[in-house]
Amino acid sequence: MAYVKINKEKCKGCGYCVNVCPDKAFVISSQLNSKGYNVIEYTSKECRGCKLCVTVCPDCAIEIFDGKK
Ligand code: SF4
Ligand code: SF4
Repeated sequence: MAYVKINKEKCKGCGYCVNVCPDKAFVISSQLNSKGYNVIEYTSKECRGCKLCVTVCPDCAIEIFDGKK
C-alpha cells in the first residue's frame, strides 16, 4: 500500500498520469488551479506504489509515499 500526494498548483492537466496508472485511478476534474488548468483527482483508496505516475509527470506534481496516510 502507498498513498498519493498531488500538488494541484503544479498540475497542468496533461493527462499522462491518467493514461499510465494501471489502476486507472486518476481523473481530470472540473477543478481549476490558480493558473487555470483542470487538475487531476485521485479516486482510489489503494495505490500499488509503482510510481509510474511520478515518472511520467512532466511537472513533478505527484509524490508517492509508502505505507498508510
Ligand atoms: S504509483 Fe502506480 S498505482 Fe499508484 S497512483 Fe501512481 S501509477 Fe497509479
Ligand atoms: S501528469 Fe502531472 S501535470 Fe499531467 S495531469 Fe498528471 S499530475 Fe497533472
